[in-house]
Amino acid sequence: MRIGVVGCGTAGQAAAIHLARAGHHVTVFERTPTLGPVGAGILLQPTGLRVLNELGVGDEIARLSSPVHRLSGLNQRGRTVLDVRYSDREPGLFGLGVHRGSLFSTLLDRMNQLRIEIWTDVDVRSYTQPRRGVVEIFDDAQRSLGHFELVIIGDGARSSLRAQSGLVRRATRYPWGAMWFVATDPDEQFSGVLQQYYHGTRGMVGFLPSGRSAVDSPSTVSVFLSVRIDEAGVIRQRGLGEFARRVRALTDRAETVLSQISDIAQVITASYHDVVLSRVFDGRVVFLGDAAHAMSPQLGQGANLALMDASELAKQLAEVSDVDVAIERYDRARRANVRYYQRVSRWLTPVFQSGLTPVGVVRDALMGPMSRAPIFRSLMLDSLVGIKTGLMPWSVMR
Ligand SMILES: Cc1cc2nc3c(=O)[nH]c(=O)nc-3n(C[C@H](O)[C@H](O)[C@H](O)COP(=O)(O)OP(=O)(O)OC[C@H]3O[C@@H](n4cnc5c(N)ncnc54)[C@H](O)[C@@H]3O)c2cc1C
Repeated sequence: MRIGVVGCGTAGQAAAIHLARAGHHVTVFERTPTLGPVGAGILLQPTGLRVLNELGVGDEIARLSSPVHRLSGLNQRGRTVLDVRYSDREPGLFGLGVHRGSLFSTLLDRMNQLRIEIWTDVDVRSYTQPRRGVVEIFDDAQRSLGHFELVIIGDGARSSLRAQSGLVRRATRYPWGAMWFVATDPDEQFSGVLQQYYHGTRGMVGFLPSGRSAVDSPSTVSVFLSVRIDEAGVIRQRGLGEFARRVRALTDRAETVLSQISDIAQVITASYHDVVLSRVFDGRVVFLGDAAHAMSPQLGQGANLALMDASELAKQLAEVSDVDVAIERYDRARRANVRYYQRVSRWLTPVFQSGLTPVGVVRDALMGPMSRAPIFRSLMLDSLVGIKTGLMPWSVMR
C-alpha cells in the first residue's frame, strides 16, 4: 500500500517503521523545517519498551536511558504520598527514563535504514477522500501532496487535521502545565527514582533521570515545575530568579540543576491537553498518539500509548487483508486501554495540579496508607506499567 504519515513524532515514527518493515511504501510529512524533537525526558514503560524491541531499537534505547525502579512523592512535611516500585509487580521490572532527543534520533536512524521518505517543512492541513479507499492530503497552500490508500495522522495534541474528521468529542487544554529544563547529572544523584515533591496541589516539582545523548556522555535529569499556564508568562517576565525561588520552595535538592540555567529562556513551558475522539478513524484516515488521545502526563503514558497504537495498527493490517476491517479492528483493540488512561489522567491531574487545596489535604492523608492496601497497590502497579483497560483488578491487557 501507499501510506502517508503526517507528523514525525513518536507515533508517526513508530508507525512508519512498522509499516515500512511490512513492505508498504511509506512517506512521512513533517511540519518543522529541520527534523528534531522538542521536549524533556520521558518515562518509557514496559509496554512502550516492548514496542521499541519490536522495532529493533530496544537495545540502543536501553543504552541511552536511565533505569527507573521507583516513583516517589513526598509532601512539604516529608510525608510519603507516593511510593511505587516496579519490582513489586514483577521482580526485575523497571521503566526507562530517556531524553526525547535520544528516542527521536534512534527512531530516525531506523527510518533512514529502511529508506523511508521524509518530507520536512510541510504543513499538512486537510484531506479529502475522493473515492472509497483513496485519501488525498493537502498543505497549507491547498497544494496536493499526493494520493494514498491509507493516511496516518500523528500530528500531536494540537492536531490541525483532527477537527475536520467530525470525530472530536473533547479537545481542551488543562489550566495547569509544567516548566521544564534538562540538566546534566554527572554524579547521578537523581538516578533510579522518579522523585516528586509536593506542596498541596499548587506546588510540585519532579526530577526524572533522562539517560544520555551518547553512551559516553554524562547522565541527565529533567526537572519539571508544575505551573498554572496563565502564570508561566509572569514567571518568565520576572526571570530566572522567580523560577528558582519556586523550585527551592519545594526542595533543596535542585541546586546543581539550577546552577546550569543561565537564562529563563532555557526553561520551556509545556501545556497538557485532553482529547477524546468518538472513534479514531475516518474512512482510510487513522489518528494515532496524541492526535487521537492527548492526556496529561500525570501517569507517564502518552508516548507509550503512541508506540502501542503503531504496533497494534501494523498487527491488524498484517493479519486482516481487508484494510477497512483492519482499521475497525484496530480501533476496537486500542479503545479500552486508551480510555482507561484518559479517564484516570483526567481524575488524577487535579489531585496533583490544581487550586483545590482540600483535595491536597485528603491526598496527603490517604494516598500513603491506601497504597499499602494490596488491592489499591496492584491497581497502581498495573496502571504504572501501562496495561490497564478498566478499574477492575482483572481489567488488564494480556
Ligand atoms: C511535560 C510532558 C511530560 C511528558 N512525559 C511523558 C512521559 O514521561 N511518558 C510518556 O509516555 N509520555 C509523556 N508525555 C507525553 C508524550 O510526550 C506524548 O504523548 C507523545 O510525544 C505523543 O507523540 P505524538 O507522536 O503523538 O505527538 P508529537 O510528539 O507531538 O509529534 C507530533 C509531530 O507532528 C508534527 N506536526 C504537527 N502538525 C503538523 C502538520 N500540520 N503537518 C505535519 N506535521 C505536523 C509536529 O511537528 C511533531 O513532530 C509528556 C508530555 C509532556 C508535555
